[in-house]
Amino acid sequence: MQKLRKLNSFKVSTFFLLTIIFIKINNYALCFDLKGNFIQGGLLVGKLSVGDALYYNGKKIPIDETGEFIIGIGRKHPNFGNIKIVTTEKKEILKNIEIKQRKYNIQKINNLKKSKVTPPAEFYDRIKLENRRIKKAKATNVEYSHYHAGFIMPAEGILTGVYGSQRILNGIPKRPHYGIDIANKIGSPILAPSDGIVVMVEKDLYFSGGTIIISHGRGLTSSLLHLKKILVEPGSFIKKGELIGLMGDTGRATGSHLDWRMELRGVRIDPYLLIKKKE
Ligand SMILES: [Zn+2]
Repeated sequence: MQKLRKLNSFKVSTFFLLTIIFIKINNYALCFDLKGNFIQGGLLVGKLSVGDALYYNGKKIPIDETGEFIIGIGRKHPNFGNIKIVTTEKKEILKNIEIKQRKYNIQKINNLKKSKVTPPAEFYDRIKLENRRIKKAKATNVEYSHYHAGFIMPAEGILTGVYGSQRILNGIPKRPHYGIDIANKIGSPILAPSDGIVVMVEKDLYFSGGTIIISHGRGLTSSLLHLKKILVEPGSFIKKGELIGLMGDTGRATGSHLDWRMELRGVRIDPYLLIKKKE
């Protein structure tokens, strides 16, 4: 029962769509809990018996010591996902889950100066190096499940950018926008969206300027971009709601705002879904 209570507290603060999948195969019954946002950009949390192995769309999913696991649903995830459970008795259980598809906003802008569309060649090495370091940082401190604390908006302001939208500049499709943008004046407080460990602090990255990356555990990370000031140190544990920095317009930002991005083991997820209240 203790395990169940843990999942419930997570649900209240975090998830609005609930599904319990009950699978009965021959005489083997498995009650398998899976909750979350069954939509592109969503995060699912589930629980299995300790010792069972889980694969999602053919990829092995790490399971913690209590049997809990998290799955990130990518921006272009197809309308079904495949779950395969291999029990300790080597029984295979297969299950398809339905994933709601989203329509993303596409914005076309033409007649822009070339340097505004593609970074100048002299920055390529720097960008490559920074990307490598970001990737490495995100893969650290995967122990613990700090995300149980639930999520809050890290800043107050106007929502000016959403997950998944894409811009096509001079006919060149740019990377989709994976974060949510919250605009407010320079110096506005930035709070920790959940508990976690600070895995990267950078004052001036090429694209994102002043940047904090937080590991919420099990490979789930938040990146907070374009900061004017950073008030935390790498390696420190931070609590949800703690003041960690000040809003800015550093890096390639068009104005003062916070870009909050979330990723789970290489899959970009939509932070907004985690704070959205049940309707
Ligand atoms: Zn943004």
